Amino acid sequence: MSYERDNIRRLSAYTPGEQPKAADIIKLNTNENPYPPVKSIMDALSSIQGEHLRKYPPATAIEFREATAKVHSVQPDQVIATNGSDELLRLAITCYCEPNSDSKKKGALGLTDPTYSLYNVLADIHDALIVSIDLDDQYQMPTDLAEQWNRAGCTLAMIVNPHAPSGRVYEIDQLKMIATAFNGILIIDEAYADFADFNALDLVRENSGLNNVLISRTFSKGYSLAGLRFGYGIAPASIIDTLNKAKDSYNTDFISQKLATAAILAHDDVAKTWDLVKSERSRVENKLIGMGYHVFPSQTNFLLAIPPKDAPQAEAIYRQLAEQHIYIRHFSMANMRDKIRISIGTPEQNDTLLQAMKELK
Ligand SMILES: *Cc1c(COP(=O)(O)O)cnc(C)c1O
Repeated sequence: MSYERDNIRRLSAYTPGEQPKAADIIKLNTNENPYPPVKSIMDALSSIQGEHLRKYPPATAIEFREATAKVHSVQPDQVIATNGSDELLRLAITCYCEPNSDSKKKGALGLTDPTYSLYNVLADIHDALIVSIDLDDQYQMPTDLAEQWNRAGCTLAMIVNPHAPSGRVYEIDQLKMIATAFNGILIIDEAYADFADFNALDLVRENSGLNNVLISRTFSKGYSLAGLRFGYGIAPASIIDTLNKAKDSYNTDFISQKLATAAILAHDDVAKTWDLVKSERSRVENKLIGMGYHVFPSQTNFLLAIPPKDAPQAEAIYRQLAEQHIYIRHFSMANMRDKIRISIGTPEQNDTLLQAMKELK
């Protein structure tokens, strides 16, 4: 006898990338920043005392929101802090999607295929209907994407930009057209925006002419703080108010608020690591192309690539590299199976990877 809800019993949980333990690991499988957090973040950590932890933390991370609002030229009431951006996505589904929506024809979640695979899992936890629209083989979105979502009763939709798992970027004008045509809240997940040439922040500003865009950001990728679990959303204040109603009272802890505040203020310093990653990205891309791989243009800290016909195929590459303690990502979905995804590491890590890829059997 199981007491689980039906949708939880059916659920297949999200599969995180491996976190192998050996000391000599080269870890290029979960898109972490290969450089350590900058000094001011670690100084903020050292400054924390027992007395800070005795009390409850500020419930809405006001200090963090004020600093972040200033950096992004928005108002503090347009920012919500969350326990990783994963919590923000889950909150949005809680607030805007109907459970069992298939029976009501309203309240579904609009996605693209492929996309960040966690979205599907979060929707399944909530028992929301998923409306997944295929991208073409260059990961371009159909011109009538918003209309397709509208017809299927979607009240929330998620686009990851730059796109994961491909790394490609969508122009702001295209996102603006989708937001304008969509009858619901559009999340633009900017987990990788730190490595891109532009972002969609203009779409959440007061003069944007839009009131339905929610941008999701994280410190996990750009700021070398995946272990901290801190993300945030930026949106019109009305959307932030809605999300605030459903969040845990103390969803971010004192330590993460302090470190995240130090991180956003260290923006310019951290950006030096983004430049290093970007220049390594084009070096690795060119080397892979030289080895006959098809590499998708990327504005993230990873590359998606298809091996040449005469080389070992994607899964075999993943396995052979893992045997040598070099971890890249391979996805088993039918439309991803022939590809490998490589996070950009330090120059030394990338060299070791490229050398190992030349010696594949
Ligand atoms: C890594 C990632 C996230 C998750 O970020 P956390 O803040 O670590 O929860 C969200 N969206 C995409 C597309 C990601 O790749």
